[in-house]
Amino acid sequence: FLKKNLGMKIVTRFAPSPTGNLHIGSARTALFNWLFAKNTKGKFLLRIEDTDKARSTEESINKILDGLKWLDLKWDGKIVYQSKNQKRHSETANELLDKGLAYKCFCSEDDLNKMREEAKILKKPFRYNRMWRDKDPNDAPKDVKPVIRIKAPTENESIINDIIQGTIKVSNEEMDDFIIMRSDGTPTYMLSVVVDDHDMNVSHIVRGHDHLTNTFRQNIIYDAMKWEKPKTAHIPLIL
Ligand code: GLU
Repeated sequence: FLKKNLGMKIVTRFAPSPTGNLHIGSARTALFNWLFAKNTKGKFLLRIEDTDKARSTEESINKILDGLKWLDLKWDGKIVYQSKNQKRHSETANELLDKGLAYKCFCSEDDLNKMREEAKILKKPFRYNRMWRDKDPNDAPKDVKPVIRIKAPTENESIINDIIQGTIKVSNEEMDDFIIMRSDGTPTYMLSVVVDDHDMNVSHIVRGHDHLTNTFRQNIIYDAMKWEKPKTAHIPLIL
């Protein structure tokens, strides 16, 4: 793998959410990103994903930084705080909206609850039924603040060529039109992570296997923006 990628500028990142201690799984993720970057004369960047204001704390940020220092995992450049990039995330959501690759969804809590009930009866996982995907926004109720959803592909399949897991295929029927902007105008993790990884020129994402389904979703945003996707390596979880 290293031979194949020789000559390529490797940029990895560690992107913890500061909602608690630096646990052993995150420490290992950081270590692997650091090792890969150092072994290839690349860069190891640190991004604090602090957009969830209710759960992010200064104390956790300090614990993460202390932990990394204690492990002697030095990051390159300045720490990126995701919350500072929110304007750029919103601009991207609006660009997708303008291009018709995303849409405003005016579903009420009631509409969503009905979909949840239906899914329960059919014993299927809940999936938003795309009711606003092709509707005229002029029909929108005045009292509902919309979220912005991405238009996910509905046909064929999506493929990830993961450095560790190999080729993984998922039918696009499994994809949903997930939310990229909440009704209060704040971007979701799914959008922020893609915009930041792109803007930080991240070439390789090394993270836990629990993020594999996120990668399929995040790739939809990369494709919509016509951005080059970073390579991914999903490492098994510590059990
Ligand atoms: N902030 C995410 C987490 O702590 C990780 C994001 C990522 O690696 O893409 O789980």
